Amino acid sequence: MGTHDVWAIGDVTGIAPFTHTAHYQGRVVAANLSGRTVDADYRAVPRAVYIAPALASVGHTVVTARAAGLEPLVARAQVNQTVRANTEGAPDGWLMLLADPGTATLVGATAMGGAAEE
Ligand SMILES: Cc1cc2nc3c(=O)[nH]c(=O)nc-3n(C[C@H](O)[C@H](O)[C@H](O)COP(=O)(O)OP(=O)(O)OC[C@H]3O[C@@H](n4cnc5c(N)ncnc54)[C@H](O)[C@@H]3O)c2cc1C
Repeated sequence: MGTHDVWAIGDVTGIAPFTHTAHYQGRVVAANLSGRTVDADYRAVPRAVYIAPALASVGHTVVTARAAGLEPLVARAQVNQTVRANTEGAPDGWLMLLADPGTATLVGATAMGGAAEE
């Protein structure tokens, strides 16, 4: 992010040119300009693809988790099991959560369907 007293946000940084990255970098810069010292940590910045239905993920996928030496627990749910999806008339889609059983920590999530990018 900032070098030589210049702050940059968004695609111009050359880091993961996605909307959520730009939003996150904006929060990091704002925090630093407000007097806090905050370093960017990209491990939990979401990636969203604005297609219909939307696709979004954050953290590890099964493939990257295994490449990192993890054997993740995987939980899946259908989006049509949520009230919001049905209320908004977008009952198709799914959510997948990955957890590292060794640390009992969520390490990734992927969703496809209405408002997945949110
Ligand atoms: C076709 C396409 C599809 C995309 N799909 C996705 C997607 O599915 N998911 C996703 O996360 N991201 C997607 N992106 C990327 C996303 O749009 C960018 O990562 C995001 O907009 C970056 O924000 P930014 O503020 O860096 O740049 P921008 O949003 O491009 O904003 C830059 C602004 O600066 C203005 N500007 C440029 N030069 C000057 C100047 N000299 N003076 C004053 N103003 C200037 C521009 O007019 C613009 O308003 C897509 C991009 C494109 C082009």
